[in-house]
Amino acid sequence: MDDQLMPQWERVCALLRTEIGEAAYQSWLKPMTVQNTAEGRVRISVPTRFMRDWIVAHYIERLCTLWQKEDSSIHGVDIIVHSDEALSSQSPVSDSQRIRRGTLPDDRSAQASDYPDLSAPLDPRYTFDQFVVGKPNEFAYAAARRVAEGATVHFNPLFLYGGVGLGKTHLMHAIAWHIRNSEPRRTVIYLSAEKFMYRFIRALREQNTVDFKEQFRSVDVLMIDDVQFIGGKDSTQEEFFHTFNSLVDQGRQIVISADKSPSDLEGMEERLKSRLNCGLVADIHATTYELRLGILQSKAETLGAAVPGKVMEFLAHKITANVRELEGALNRVVAHAQLIGHEITMETSQEVLHDLLRANDRRVTIEEIQKSVASHFNIRVSDMHSARRARSVARPRQIAMYLAKQLTSRSLPEIGRKFGGRDHTTVMHAVRKVEELRERDNTFAEDVELLRRMLEG
Ligand code: ADP
Ligand code: MG
Repeated sequence: MDDQLMPQWERVCALLRTEIGEAAYQSWLKPMTVQNTAEGRVRISVPTRFMRDWIVAHYIERLCTLWQKEDSSIHGVDIIVHSDEALSSQSPVSDSQRIRRGTLPDDRSAQASDYPDLSAPLDPRYTFDQFVVGKPNEFAYAAARRVAEGATVHFNPLFLYGGVGLGKTHLMHAIAWHIRNSEPRRTVIYLSAEKFMYRFIRALREQNTVDFKEQFRSVDVLMIDDVQFIGGKDSTQEEFFHTFNSLVDQGRQIVISADKSPSDLEGMEERLKSRLNCGLVADIHATTYELRLGILQSKAETLGAAVPGKVMEFLAHKITANVRELEGALNRVVAHAQLIGHEITMETSQEVLHDLLRANDRRVTIEEIQKSVASHFNIRVSDMHSARRARSVARPRQIAMYLAKQLTSRSLPEIGRKFGGRDHTTVMHAVRKVEELRERDNTFAEDVELLRRMLEG
């Protein structure tokens, strides 16, 4: 066996561990055993078929890339299932067993002590106090508060869903914090679906699914985050379903999150879907400008940073994907200013966020804006470029120019050129006109907001 293999593997593992985080590392990578390399391929074994599929689906490319950096002759990684029987039988010690026993710590004993507590750690920043409420999340927030404050169960489960980075995990942690502080005797368990699955699979492997079920029996509130990951894994779904039913029957509260509504969850059994649909389903919508601005103001205050209002407005306009990205942008701007010892200005912010702003721009092009606006107002896209001045085409054209200014980082002359070679003063006039109309006319404002949301998708 190649002497280099173990040190290489350890370095690859260490890198991946920092990339994917401790929890995922413990669940998926630690149980892996490197076997050998042959013909440019590394062979790694895992205890179950399920783990193999998961690793192949999620980590194989990254493993391969990292390994290539260690050894450029490697061009592939194979994951094989090394059954438990083979490991426990006392047949002559094979290479793989030596590796497993000699260099890597035994995964099972290590893992048992790694998780003295069933619940995953809670982020101290994710409390209700720190959650900014706006139109897109007020329903989900109210439902979460109700669950946290109510001693009796009103709806079961509470199903929170919404796109990535919109505050699902934050709300779940907030529920857990609230209950821990106000009613410490109630047991609250918060787990990612990934971890729930991993624990269940481990229990299967160790043949103690009874213990596994027992652990959940005394739980008052069970929260499982990102259940879309359970989709398609039959045995886990089955177990989840049973755990779920028995807790509901005992009047315990369940809170679930996912990136889709119960009906849209892929690979989910019908009876599980309908069970999930039975409680209260609360979705968190994409952020609005107002909410983004509110969040920025709150976070800037927490950071104790003097961020000019103009800069916050700019960020709220430009960083629209989700709250996580918005928060990241603000942190970068603040950190940069502190490091350099300068005040935060528009110029420095634009500079620091150069790459992020460009990436956001790529999401919406002027052509897309023209197309959406034209179809919204039932005019031809060619009217965006034409010289026609009838109000029925001129107004939509102005709205499109306004949106181009707001949603892309194109300059006024560039925008003018895309609208049939118009002058930048025409674009400026359009922007002012739309702003003015937005303030005066509510229906108009809603129309523009609707278009913006559609484009930001
Ligand atoms: P999700 O679980 O939906 O992917 P998270 O709950 O992890 O999203 O939220 C991403 C980040 O954005 C977190 O740092 C969270 O604190 C923050 N965040 C999301 N929504 C809000 C909000 N309404 N107010 C304050 N912070 C928020
Ligand atoms: Mg989350």
